[in-house]
Amino acid sequence: MPPFLRRMAAVAMFVLCLAGPAAAQDITPTPDPSLPPPAATPEPLPTRGPRPRSFAVVNDDRAALQFFFEGVTPQGQTRLARVVGDDIRSVSAEWLGRTVNFWPAEDGSFYGLLAVDVEQPVTNTNPLAVTVTYSTGEPSTLDANVPIVRGSFINQILSIPPAKGYLLDPVTERSELALLELFIAPSTTVRGWDEAGFSLPIPAALTSPFGAIRTFNGAYRTRHTGWDISVTGGLPVMAMAGGTVVFAETLPIRGQYVLVDHGYGVFSGYAHLSEVDVEVGQRIAQGAVIGTVGSGGRTSGPHFHWETAVDGVWVDSVQLLELWMP
Ligand SMILES: [Zn+2]
Repeated sequence: MPPFLRRMAAVAMFVLCLAGPAAAQDITPTPDPSLPPPAATPEPLPTRGPRPRSFAVVNDDRAALQFFFEGVTPQGQTRLARVVGDDIRSVSAEWLGRTVNFWPAEDGSFYGLLAVDVEQPVTNTNPLAVTVTYSTGEPSTLDANVPIVRGSFINQILSIPPAKGYLLDPVTERSELALLELFIAPSTTVRGWDEAGFSLPIPAALTSPFGAIRTFNGAYRTRHTGWDISVTGGLPVMAMAGGTVVFAETLPIRGQYVLVDHGYGVFSGYAHLSEVDVEVGQRIAQGAVIGTVGSGGRTSGPHFHWETAVDGVWVDSVQLLELWMP
């Protein structure tokens, strides 16, 4: 029971006691010292939010572009856009120098994710050119603009054991990211999620946030590409949605690592695993066990690192999980 409800219940009980025949009883409003103090209410785990309002941005005589957000996108976050019209065969867009692949929904419209890299410059002018191809093969373009605003990221001071100090190296870090960027760039057309949305790989409290600017061992600065979940080693890690395993190898920083393609440019990565239960090319369902929590790679102990990418850039996985999309 939350503390305020507990207090209200205590007050109600006090009033009932005064009003009833038990008013003569000894009433002690102080808590019983033999009982443990009330536990703090835990933070609720993130879940998919409700469908937000959509706003028409631009239209021609056959199709309309809508946004499910108020026109701006912060660094590191993902926003949802939609194209509505008759006889549309496919929709794609160019934005921030990348292709956004829209997926068809049951209602005949097409949805696309606008993802922003954490290092994307903050600018007001970022043209979004949406190409709509009709079933006749004829294309048309809807032009819009999405300003990028500054993201909110914390600073963290961390330390790892001296034996792992060689992993505080920009060349190692850059080459590992460059390898993974080859795998998160393609966009496939089997959608791995359904209306239930994404699920947390481990239903436990998230600790270290995405995008944090981290200083390791007092000197080495880097960005956090995902979220950490502090859990004991050996716990199962589950796929956040259905998809295809595209990478399962041991990396210097991420340790034993699995990357899953969920379709339409959405990927999830699972790091520092002690055991891997899937293999490359395997089709897996939401909740399938990917492996178990370990401590390999650049860690100071067992924990789980979960990261997500959209259209080739790492984005806030919790915000993506909370984003309503069909
Ligand atoms: Zn991490």
